Amino acid sequence: KNKKIKYKRILLKVSGEGFGGENGKGIDTEKFATFAKTIQKILSLGAETALVVGGGNVLRGAKFGLSGKSRIVADQAGMIATILNALLLQDTLEECNIKTHVISAIEIKNITEPFILRNCLRYLEERNIVIFAGGTGNPYFTTDTAAALRAIEINANVMLKATRVDGVYTDDPANNPSAKLLSKLTYAEVLNRQLGVMDMTAVSLSMENKLPIIVLNMNKKGNIEKAVLGKSVGTFIGN
Ligand code: UDP
Repeated sequence: KNKKIKYKRILLKVSGEGFGGENGKGIDTEKFATFAKTIQKILSLGAETALVVGGGNVLRGAKFGLSGKSRIVADQAGMIATILNALLLQDTLEECNIKTHVISAIEIKNITEPFILRNCLRYLEERNIVIFAGGTGNPYFTTDTAAALRAIEINANVMLKATRVDGVYTDDPANNPSAKLLSKLTYAEVLNRQLGVMDMTAVSLSMENKLPIIVLNMNKKGNIEKAVLGKSVGTFIGN
């Protein structure tokens, strides 16, 4: 079975919206359950899987904090929102008998584990799921940057960015009906064309460390498995 997978160790970034309702807001328990089934399939393919979860279904700091001081507080609240999603996801995964560890960048001693790389690598080798929560632990960053950082730290073969759209388009498909889906891009193209798929920090960090990124739609059944198997899906970003 393992022969077929292209990427042995993956870092899967899930936006908070993926766990929200129709408009991507709030907590939809069904979404957690569906996602857990996908994780089960990826594990059965033999991939070592680490997750970074966002918190946009609850709060995004940049939209919330108006003054510099409140921006920092809003970002802290945003990071806590990611921990909230991580805990609910952990519980759902464990209900499916998948051993899961929540590793938080912000210390919450009684509930989460601290980030100790050596421990995380062991968990992954044992095919446990590692959920990185709390982003980078710093304000003014996003969970996309946390995902790139953790992917590089654990030496992941690819970062999958699971979103609610099919990939990167030439323009915003919501406003421009002639916008086209791009199947392959270089890091430089993403940076220069300001395609807005993820923040510049995440893209430049990935470029510097040669981490390939695949942007895909998590709501289309089988997409994440396809990516792990190396089949063409969404938008590939690399050199
Ligand atoms: N956040 C932060 N530092 C980080 C990661 C996240 O301050 O390293 C805060 C920030 O306010 C962000 C919120 O947490 O808006 C939720 O994360 P994000 O917007 O990346 O979630 P997603 O869009 O993936 O759901």
